Amino acid sequence: RASRNFHPEDTVITVGDAVIGGKEPVIIAGPCSVESEEQICGVAMDVKKSGAKILRGGAFKPRTSPYSFQGLRADGIKLLLEAKKESGLPIVTEIMDISQLPLFDDVDIIQVGARNMQNFELLKELGKTEKPILLKRGLSSTLEELLMSAEYIMSGGNEQVILCERGIRTFETATRNTLDLSCIPVLQSLSHLPVIVDPSHATGKADLVAPMSRAAIAAGADGLIIEVHNNPACALCDGQQSLTPAAFDELKKSIDKVAAAL
Ligand code: PEP
Ligand code: MN
Repeated sequence: RASRNFHPEDTVITVGDAVIGGKEPVIIAGPCSVESEEQICGVAMDVKKSGAKILRGGAFKPRTSPYSFQGLRADGIKLLLEAKKESGLPIVTEIMDISQLPLFDDVDIIQVGARNMQNFELLKELGKTEKPILLKRGLSSTLEELLMSAEYIMSGGNEQVILCERGIRTFETATRNTLDLSCIPVLQSLSHLPVIVDPSHATGKADLVAPMSRAAIAAGADGLIIEVHNNPACALCDGQQSLTPAAFDELKKSIDKVAAAL
């Protein structure tokens, strides 16, 4: 079902005013984690002003250490819904277990994180929903494995899957992960599904987000998902890779120039 051989036309996914897989790249932006009403609503209004079409924000956080901030969980979803109401932006947030699904009724796009890309039982359950799924590539997954995970969702009847490259594990330590830009044309030739790039988790460094964003757009990505925080130095998660709203505004302008030149 994910293969272009059996479905030659591009899949286009619409949520609110946002079109994913259409002519123009879609920009998703927001903090790694929802931290407070002031934070999520403030960032939502800022990124909207700069041209983001979808708001991101984690409520359930898959942290490496159990002693790190685990997210505001159900309260985080409530605050995201507040930000959705205030800004009018559709929202995307990560699910970690199918028991959390009832909390996602008003969430527009459900994110499956890199660590859950091969949680096949979760994928099967999400295949029974009617919500678009943002499926992130696993830390050490091949593109074939990513597409098979999409297949798990699609075989349940849910064909609205967005593929996301977020960097993979290599021997390189200068960046958090290694951004595999070549996956964009490879996935687009193998599949009709939209392909977006997450330069924040791919690099782990705020100053690398702009150049990798421009490169992803130049390589034909259908969109970007970017971490933006009102005060990166004090962020509860991933501050070192988060852009300020002002830096995001600059980045959005430079992305527009690259997109216009294609
Ligand atoms: C995230 O988007 O907040 C996240 C945890 O990403 P990943 O699953 O790609 O690590
Ligand atoms: Mn993050």
